[in-house]
Amino acid sequence: MYIILLGPPGAGKGTQSRRLAQEYNLKIISTGDIFREEIRKESELGKKVKKYLEAGLLVPDHIVIELVKSIIRYPECSLGVIFDGFPRTIKQAEELDRLLSNCNRKVDIAINIEISDEDVIKRNTYRRVCINCGRVYHLIFDPPKTSDICDFCGGKLIQRKDDKEDVIRKRLEVYRQWTRPIIQYYSEKSILVNIDGTKNIDEVYNQIKTVIEKRVKKLRSHNPPD
Ligand code: ADP
Ligand code: AMP
Repeated sequence: MYIILLGPPGAGKGTQSRRLAQEYNLKIISTGDIFREEIRKESELGKKVKKYLEAGLLVPDHIVIELVKSIIRYPECSLGVIFDGFPRTIKQAEELDRLLSNCNRKVDIAINIEISDEDVIKRNTYRRVCINCGRVYHLIFDPPKTSDICDFCGGKLIQRKDDKEDVIRKRLEVYRQWTRPIIQYYSEKSILVNIDGTKNIDEVYNQIKTVIEKRVKKLRSHNPPD
């Protein structure tokens, strides 16, 4: 299955994609996580994209598309992928369709996690991320057992540079201008499902699981196993 998680910054895409990937044995492609890792390594790509991430702006389409093109070829992507933070523009969505159709695949479902602007600010301001394993916490809604330490690997928790209020507001503005139109794009293809992202993490997860399982059933009824 090829699943896209849509939603404004802080909607819970990363949180949910980790759980879904485990349950359904899917590979995650999180362009934001990849860019942050490249910046940390000070690679050529990292140097190119740093200024966009720090300002809360989108990395240019051609860079993002090249990156996804190179990853989607990996054999582990052939069993299915959850896209987190990609596509973010109509151009990226069109390019993804092209890339998948080249290998006789398609996006099966686009899950749009909806939260309010007020929640966007709250979710991002109090987000903390493990510097070592990338696990995401929230100081109020999903706190670590020990302050500033990752429950899973003992790594240090940090605040993302773009999780400061002025940059969060910029990211929200960018989302409205460039990314929100994608909702319509997938709606026209009849593969969009809206999810109430304001519920707690488990409830959002259960909503998503229900829609995925419904889609799997539908796909199986169209393509019964031999
Ligand atoms: P995104 O990947 O969409 O930017 P994240 O998954 O990183 O969002 O979540 C943003 C913040 O909100 C994190 O601190 C996370 O722990 C918290 N969070 C995620 N889902 C929920 C939820 N359903 N209720 C409350 N907090 C949540
Ligand atoms: P995220 O981790 O999804 O919140 O993304 C963090 C930042 O990475 C964004 O604010 C952008 O600067 C950049 N980014 C991630 N994914 C994309 C994308 N698909 N297109 C353009 N920029 C992206």
